[in-house]
Amino acid sequence: MLTKAPRGTKDLFGNEILEWRRVEQVILDVCKDFGFHEIRTPIFEHTELFQRGVGETTDIVQKEMYSFEDKGKRSITLKPEGTAGVARAYIEHDMQAEAQPTKLFYITPAFRYERPQAGRMRQFHQFGVEMFGSKEASADAEVISLASIVLERLGITHVELHINSLGGPECRKKYNEVLKSYLKSHFEELCPTCQERYEKNPLRVLDCKMEKCKNIVAQAPSTIDTLERECREHFDQLQALLTEMKIPFVVDPNIVRGLDYYTRTVFEFISQDIGAQGTVCGGGRYDQLIEECGGKATPAVGFGIGLERLLMVMEAEQGTYTHPLQRDLFIGAIGKEALKKAHGLIHTLRKEGISAEGDHLDRSVRAQMKYANKIGASYSLILGEEELVKEKATLKNMNIGEQEEIQLSQLVEIMKQKIQK
Ligand code: ATP
Ligand code: MG
Repeated sequence: MLTKAPRGTKDLFGNEILEWRRVEQVILDVCKDFGFHEIRTPIFEHTELFQRGVGETTDIVQKEMYSFEDKGKRSITLKPEGTAGVARAYIEHDMQAEAQPTKLFYITPAFRYERPQAGRMRQFHQFGVEMFGSKEASADAEVISLASIVLERLGITHVELHINSLGGPECRKKYNEVLKSYLKSHFEELCPTCQERYEKNPLRVLDCKMEKCKNIVAQAPSTIDTLERECREHFDQLQALLTEMKIPFVVDPNIVRGLDYYTRTVFEFISQDIGAQGTVCGGGRYDQLIEECGGKATPAVGFGIGLERLLMVMEAEQGTYTHPLQRDLFIGAIGKEALKKAHGLIHTLRKEGISAEGDHLDRSVRAQMKYANKIGASYSLILGEEELVKEKATLKNMNIGEQEEIQLSQLVEIMKQKIQK
């Protein structure tokens, strides 16, 4: 117990965390180019927010939430996804009063009590964007183009964009009837949860993970066939915009998404390379969420990317990431005086942004040089009695073995030139 992380969680360290940082940097860069602002909302919220904002008939609310009563007897839930908290913040801080649309992004841990397997964790991480205040298809196209550029900049090529439209409330009503009459003849074969969903929210049956339910819905009628004129046009326009942007997509009536709040556009980026949990990015339009959470009716569109799955796709396509943390210079020392001088120089170099390193284990010179090699130092120099007296030392390029004698007083300037900082 004491030496094992809880099931479905994971420590991130070593080379892996460098890869995470790289991914996060690409996300920050792309969001900046798109004019999306970062938002950080609390890790926990009132349970009711997710019941409302994610939906009572979803897998998340029905089975997966980490909820508990706090000492003040409030029901609290660790966020299972990013959108509801951001929607709450949008209302609470009256962001609607600012120039619209409001464009926000976040990178956050999320918590779901699921059966852990490849690509399915109990604590995972989402990068998400939300764009509030526009009902136009151009907003849908913009968030999709943002996701596609993030994937492209990370060198990911084997993902396919699937899009669908669920329509607005009117189309939904019509579709629910059509779907129910189809499901009626299969009712007995549905899983108990879906039998319940049949009455409350039949669309959810399309998103069930149970094999027998999946087989039944494979033949179900498509939401696209019951779209009313305006929703149809919205969907057509989105497709025209994606075509103009040269973003390849397929229309896929099986995409309905796991959350209750979606209207009109839904989409996923799917990878074939990482097994059953192939959905790297899921998103769509949710024009009723803000109102559902107590705000003024505000159209919105967004997506969530699971970072663990994103990294799995990158590993499948590009192999394991092996770029260790590099050091610019290792300063070895022989004797107490030299060690003191070394640590003084290291401090000065670091102040100038040069990643210098020294010995902390009272090692022999040989062992110090072995260590310098191990940590991948680009340069090294050794200080001994003679070097201290002459105030000169030999700077060695560890990659090509070349050596040069330098004045210690010039070390910072020389290193700056070498690494061009
Ligand atoms: P799935 O159908 O795989 O259960 P979902 O519909 O529950 O996914 P969303 O709620 O839309 O997923 O979350 C957005 C993204 O977050 C998913 O596409 C996926 O990449 C990631 N994700 C969701 N649940 C998990 C999890 N338990 N572990 C790791 N990543 C996850
Ligand atoms: Mg899920």
